Amino acid sequence: MSEPLLELRNLHAEADGASILRGVDLVVNEGEVHALMGPNGAGKSTLANVVMGHPGYTVTAGEILLNGENIAAWTPDERARAGIFLAFQYPEAISGVSVVQFLRQAIAARKGLEELSILEVRLNLAEWMDRLGMDPAFAERHLNEGFSGGERKRNEVLQMALLEPAIAFLDETDSGLDIDALRIVARGVRTVRDQNPPMGVVIVTHYVKLLEEIEPDRVHILVDGQIVHSGSAKLAQQIELEGYDAWRPVSA
Ligand code: ADP
Ligand code: MG
Repeated sequence: MSEPLLELRNLHAEADGASILRGVDLVVNEGEVHALMGPNGAGKSTLANVVMGHPGYTVTAGEILLNGENIAAWTPDERARAGIFLAFQYPEAISGVSVVQFLRQAIAARKGLEELSILEVRLNLAEWMDRLGMDPAFAERHLNEGFSGGERKRNEVLQMALLEPAIAFLDETDSGLDIDALRIVARGVRTVRDQNPPMGVVIVTHYVKLLEEIEPDRVHILVDGQIVHSGSAKLAQQIELEGYDAWRPVSA
C-alpha cells in the first residue's frame, strides 16, 4: 500500500503561547474527501493554517507528512509548490492586483515556471469562470476588493481549479452563501475532482447541505483541538440533529 497523501500524527500547535491543537491524527488518501466539523473555536482554521505553514502558528509536537515526508519545517511557499492549497475562511483583499495577475503568478509558482503564457492562463481562466457562473469581467477586478461574500468564495474555488492542488483545504467556503451559490461552489469542487481525481479534499463546514452535494468519505469532529470522533457521511446528519454537545475531548 502506498503512503497516505497527507498524514497528521499527534499534531500539537500553539499561537501566542496558547495551545490550540492538542494531538490531532488524520489520514487523507489520494482521491478522498474528508469533512472537518466542530464548534466555533475548536481549532479547525488553525489546523488548515498549520498544514499550510502559516507563520502565526508553532508546531510544538507531532508530524505533518505529505506523501510520507515530514513537511513541518517547510515554508508556506514550499508547501504551495508541493500542492497544498488552502481556501481561506476570510479571503483578504490585495489592492492593485487583478484576479488574472494574481492567478498567473500563483500558477507559475505552483508549476515552478518563470513565465506562463498569458493567453493560456486567460483561456483556462475563462473556461473555469464560465463553469463557476462568474462574469468574465471579474478577471480584471482587483483581488477581493469589493467582492461580495459569494464572489470571494467562488474566487477561492477558481484558484483551486487553476492551481490543480494535490490536497485542498476548504475552510468554510460555503459560509454566507445562498443555496444557489452553494450549489455552484459544490459543483465547482466536483468538477475539479473529476478533472483531478487523485486530489484530496478536506472540507471545513457546518452545513450538511454542502456534504450532500459533495459526499465525504469520512467526517471528523474536532473539539478543543482534538478529533473526538470520526465516522461516515451519516455522522454529519447526526450532528445536524444533535449538535456537538454529545462529543467531548478525551482529556481536559
Ligand atoms: P475554528 O476555525 O474551529 O472556529 P480557530 O482555529 O479559528 O477555530 O481558533 C481556535 C482557537 O484558537 C480559538 O480560541 C482562537 O481564539 C484561538 N486562536 C486562533 N488563532 C489564533 C492566533 N493567531 N493567536 C491566538 N489565538 C488564536
Ligand atoms: Mg474557522
